[in-house]
Amino acid sequence: MAKRDYYDVLGVPRTASADEIKKSYRRLAMKHHPDRNKDDASAEGKFKEAKEAYEVLSDADKRATYDRFGHDGLSRGAGGAGGFGAEGFGDIFGDVFGDIFGGGRQRRSQVFRGADLGYELRLELEEAVSGNSVTIDVPTQVACESCDGSGAKKGTKPVNCSTCAGVGQVRMQQGFFSIQQTCPACKGAGTTVGDPCEACHGRGRVHKTKTLSVKVPPGVDDGDRIRLSGEGEAGRNGGPPGDLYVEIRVQPHKLFTREGADLACEVPISMGTATLGGEVELPTLNGHVSLKVPAGTQSGKVFRLRGKGVTTVRDARQGDLFAKVAVETPINLTSEQKEMLRQFEESVYSGGEKHSPRAGGWIDTVKRFFDRISQ
Ligand SMILES: [Zn+2]
Ligand SMILES: [Zn+2]
Repeated sequence: MAKRDYYDVLGVPRTASADEIKKSYRRLAMKHHPDRNKDDASAEGKFKEAKEAYEVLSDADKRATYDRFGHDGLSRGAGGAGGFGAEGFGDIFGDVFGDIFGGGRQRRSQVFRGADLGYELRLELEEAVSGNSVTIDVPTQVACESCDGSGAKKGTKPVNCSTCAGVGQVRMQQGFFSIQQTCPACKGAGTTVGDPCEACHGRGRVHKTKTLSVKVPPGVDDGDRIRLSGEGEAGRNGGPPGDLYVEIRVQPHKLFTREGADLACEVPISMGTATLGGEVELPTLNGHVSLKVPAGTQSGKVFRLRGKGVTTVRDARQGDLFAKVAVETPINLTSEQKEMLRQFEESVYSGGEKHSPRAGGWIDTVKRFFDRISQ
């Protein structure tokens, strides 16, 4: 029987890349694998054909020979196309599918990076804005000092795991796939401890509370995270430590709320100041400033004080302070004061709407509203 062209067998062009060839072969091997086609006698033939084609085209030298001389060129060399017994299935699967399951067959015990840790750092607004150096105590796992993290008693050493022969992984047969799994006996370490270290009971790590100094950069905000590289839990089997993430929690402030680089506050002013105008002292994070309140200021008016906000860690922009005026209604008045206010009211309201900028517009709106619903 004349052999089919290898490129035709794999269904790829002659210019196909190594990757394309591999992909196509995987697809065909899955499709025609004898274990999956027990009722189809032709499947094995197709599988072997694809395997043969792949063995040639995946080898740069063999492919070059094939490209120049065709099938004849190859059969002149040693081996040719023979030897595709059943034993070949496993091997080629190891080669082609090995990387799907993340493992060749080389010895590689598993090391584990330590877990990342989180720490919530509560800060006052002032501390977050100005930055600070803070000392924190973090409960964590560190490498055991008695055994240097090996878990084996002083003077002894961990020995190769007998279940996986030190590889750290075992092969499991599942259907026609051979799957690599972490060795259950040594949990992937490749070694077991005969005589465990007393300090850590063979775990190689111990609980410890670490005291760390955290540099809080000026301008951090609620929810920002500072990463302390390598300050997480110790790794296992010689793996690197994890990281520590310090998450900033800014406590609510009595005077200010913060929105990015801007601050907002409320400032109560008296009826008299709101009416006649005046100056009020306004707190900022850097001391007091004076705010000019013009005559006739209404409650709820917001004044913007440029540059009196904060600087964020992200950009250098200096934010603003937004001060919202709340006009206070006087309480606990004496009868004398009440009388004065009554007289004042009479005098003002006999003047009509010109003294009540809001009420004028408001009364009109209410009137239109009732007109509409009574229609
Ligand atoms: Zn093992
Ligand atoms: Zn130990």
